[in-house]
Amino acid sequence: MKKTLQRPQVPVIGVSHPVVSPIMPSVVYASESPDALDAQYDGRAQGYTYAREGHPNADLLARRIDAMEGLEGGIVLGSGMAAVTAVLMGLCRAGDHVLGGNQLYGRSMRLMGEELPRLGIATTLADPTDVAAMAAALRPETKLVLIEVVSNPTLRIADLDGIAALCAERGVLLAVDNTFTTPSAIRPAEHGADIVLHSVTKLLAGHSDVTLGWVAARDPGIAERMRVFAVTTGLTASPFDCWLAERGLVSFDLRFARTQETAERLAAHLAGQQGVTRVLYPTRPDHPDAARAQGLLRGQGCNMVSFEIEGGRAAANAFARAAEGIAFAPTLGDVGTTLSHPASSSHRALSPEARAANGISEGFFRVSVGLEEPQALLAVFDRGLEAARAAAD
Ligand SMILES: *Cc1c(COP(=O)(O)O)cnc(C)c1O
Repeated sequence: MKKTLQRPQVPVIGVSHPVVSPIMPSVVYASESPDALDAQYDGRAQGYTYAREGHPNADLLARRIDAMEGLEGGIVLGSGMAAVTAVLMGLCRAGDHVLGGNQLYGRSMRLMGEELPRLGIATTLADPTDVAAMAAALRPETKLVLIEVVSNPTLRIADLDGIAALCAERGVLLAVDNTFTTPSAIRPAEHGADIVLHSVTKLLAGHSDVTLGWVAARDPGIAERMRVFAVTTGLTASPFDCWLAERGLVSFDLRFARTQETAERLAAHLAGQQGVTRVLYPTRPDHPDAARAQGLLRGQGCNMVSFEIEGGRAAANAFARAAEGIAFAPTLGDVGTTLSHPASSSHRALSPEARAANGISEGFFRVSVGLEEPQALLAVFDRGLEAARAAAD
């Protein structure tokens, strides 16, 4: 397991020092003189000026996530969507084209489908498991490709290496949203991604009590462009949120290992049950991208399991009601297991036919596995399935 922890930079108070990062909520920072301020702005001296431009808690958190992803100079922003926005709106201009994976996070799709075109930036979506489809969708004016390694909610695995080679050949920037996979499973920069981003809200912070994002680029010029855009548009984060996320990050490796182990067990358990028509998990041999998952994620999975039950909406309602103790909530990466039902939430705007084309039926659920005792968790799923079988319409 990678070492993700460094001791925080903490002040010495007398002859001892705190072992936890202090929270530094100051919005403004006083400098000694106009010359000293000049030196700060020119980059000859280090110092903060105003919290929207940067503050110690954001930097402490950013340096930790940088180390996990093997990148430098990342920035922490107010949400995962702020990070997606810094990439797409900070780097593209009118006349550019952006290509996205066709199963991106819902709001990323909204940003691509509604906001970017309004500003004269053309966008299209293509299947990232199929590098030929991605290649066919590139245009001469394509500036950037945005993908996620594991798709939501069907957990398909993108051809990251193929897409990275394609982008390098065509001179197109590749941005990877690594929220689902996390640096414990894959470090996209090592596969050729130019830009890596996270919704820190999810697995990294891990407690569903803070909304944050992080983004970094291999090229310092690109990183600086995103930083300036974020500072100007006010996408930056509050010190307290950064401090909370740093606290959550301390246990990230342990949480990810444990939830992954339980997720794999849950997938195996569900696969054998009457009334379960499909189970999707990256390390299962029947996963549609099993070989690619094995190679890219080095035998690891993730904390997400998707599955389908028979019996339509009635069975789905019965399952959600009977699976007591599991929050029916549209998020992931919390310490507790959460359940989501894409047909009534993330994919509700699609027609039933369009949902079916995405492999999403009324009986389709996505589970974000938490830290519960595994045997007890399996028992809750058994109760849910029993109720679903009784209610099937
Ligand atoms: C949640 C999520 C986001 C957006 O993050 P917020 O912190 O909610 O803004 C982006 N990408 C993925 C894959 C996510 O799961």
